[in-house]
Amino acid sequence: MHARDFVVIGGGVIGLRIATEVKLRFPDSDVTLLEKEERCGLHASGRNSGVLHAGFYYTADSFKARFTRDGNRRLSDYCVEHELPVNRCGKLVVARSADELDVLDELLHRARLNGVELESVSVEEARRIEPRARTHVRALYSPTTATVDPTQVVAAFAQTACRVGVEVRTGVAYRGRRDDGIETTAGALRAGYVINAAGLYADRIARDFGFASAYRILPFKGLYLHGSDEAPAFRTNIYPVPDLRTPFLGVHLTVTVDGGVTIGPTAVPAFWREGYRGLENFRLAETLEILRLEGILFLLNRAGFRDLALRELPKYLRSVLASRAARLAVGIETRHFKRWGPAGIRAQLVDLERYELVTDFKLEGDEESFHVLNAVSPAFTCAIPFAEYVLDEISERIK
Ligand SMILES: Cc1cc2nc3c(=O)[nH]c(=O)nc-3n(C[C@H](O)[C@H](O)[C@H](O)COP(=O)(O)OP(=O)(O)OC[C@H]3O[C@@H](n4cnc5c(N)ncnc54)[C@H](O)[C@@H]3O)c2cc1C
Repeated sequence: MHARDFVVIGGGVIGLRIATEVKLRFPDSDVTLLEKEERCGLHASGRNSGVLHAGFYYTADSFKARFTRDGNRRLSDYCVEHELPVNRCGKLVVARSADELDVLDELLHRARLNGVELESVSVEEARRIEPRARTHVRALYSPTTATVDPTQVVAAFAQTACRVGVEVRTGVAYRGRRDDGIETTAGALRAGYVINAAGLYADRIARDFGFASAYRILPFKGLYLHGSDEAPAFRTNIYPVPDLRTPFLGVHLTVTVDGGVTIGPTAVPAFWREGYRGLENFRLAETLEILRLEGILFLLNRAGFRDLALRELPKYLRSVLASRAARLAVGIETRHFKRWGPAGIRAQLVDLERYELVTDFKLEGDEESFHVLNAVSPAFTCAIPFAEYVLDEISERIK
């Protein structure tokens, strides 16, 4: 293998792990990671629930099924090795009515196929695990679900990347493609191979290289409410039964790494990509494009987009969000959840031919560039084995 210059775009968990893996596999190559912000992890990677998922939601043929179980174990081990806290609090999936019991069975079936530990528990057993849990007839218990602090994980990943010899350049944005590399906000950069892990902007960058023509990223905002000191303490995460037509898991109660509790995240269709608060990062052209796409999805209601939008929008109200969480556990009161935490935005891919939300990770590339599209949840959990797989794919293409 010849030494060549690799440029990785995006300093979230995916870009950082890919850059690390490139350097480990091609130690004679120069590997540069570009992050447009002043620090790595200021977008989805640092603004998520920090849940290390177990891997039972996903159909066996998916990338998500393939990487979540091992990703959970490897990221837990990485945290222990780097002395980062892990709260091995597990998780209950609770049913709200008899209609949801079939989905519990389906999740149990998927867990078996994916080799993931998951138990069906009675109401009494669920209450022994978490006395406040509410469930109808039965629930599922996942012992391997855990929580971490995502900002600590990103910081450690960035240190690991630098330690193995990746040049991490923050405050430098990709601007466009050139014959011999790329144009950045800090000038031209020679690049033998470009890897795009730019999260919310990955589709735009992919198009410069002739990829992602049939896809667009649609931002979905995730809002969180943080419990005050008076909020009840929980022993385990509590999730609802998900709507399997959408890639989202529903508003849940998360036990944070330090034992606090949050309600969220919502999955509200957003109007521009990095609109975390007020008019922050507003871009008119981007908004018009997104509104057009959301309008089409709303009218077609493919895979339940309209139902989702109508269900999610009221959750901007604190009382509505708290009342959704109150269906999962007793003792949830709006007055204990007054503070909104930092919102996160999912870079959700839409298939423009079928007008559907893409559920699995999507990878495209050739002998010059590689593009990670739709690195949505649980890509944080999957980051370590997923990056290794990306490198297997790249190595095949540049043999
Ligand atoms: C609300 C929410 C909750 C979630 N909860 C969980 C969870 O509990 N567990 C889990 O496993 N996953 C969860 N996820 C998913 C997880 O956060 C993401 O899958 C993961 O962080 C994706 O990482 P990334 O590196 O692809 O993207 P990002 O973290 O978004 O990184 C992309 C980076 O690219 C940079 N970039 C963009 N354009 C350019 C450019 N032109 N030049 C240079 N840099 C650029 C951005 O600044 C950004 O830092 C959640 C996501 C959200 C939004």
